[in-house]
Amino acid sequence: MTCIEIDNSWCKGCHICVGVCPRHVLEVDSGSFFNGFHPVVVARPQDCSSCLLCELLCPDLAISVQVEPQRQSA
Ligand code: SF4
Ligand code: SF4
Repeated sequence: MTCIEIDNSWCKGCHICVGVCPRHVLEVDSGSFFNGFHPVVVARPQDCSSCLLCELLCPDLAISVQVEPQRQSA
């Protein structure tokens, strides 16, 4: 499964990543505050298609998407 990491110390809370994710993997955690804004959480990692849009469009380079290599069939 793809591993999505959000570095809250770099994130500025713009929530661009939540809006661009086509699979609705990311969500604003409206129940908590960090550095004065609602942080983003990876709510549905199993739905990630590894498109990398969130990583590419995050203006603060706070998202890292690690794509697990496909296994080769013998
Ligand atoms: S796009 Fe980047 S800076 Fe903006 S909320 Fe998402 S992780 Fe944070
Ligand atoms: S890699 Fe694509 S599908 Fe996965 S969380 Fe980021 S924007 Fe959403």
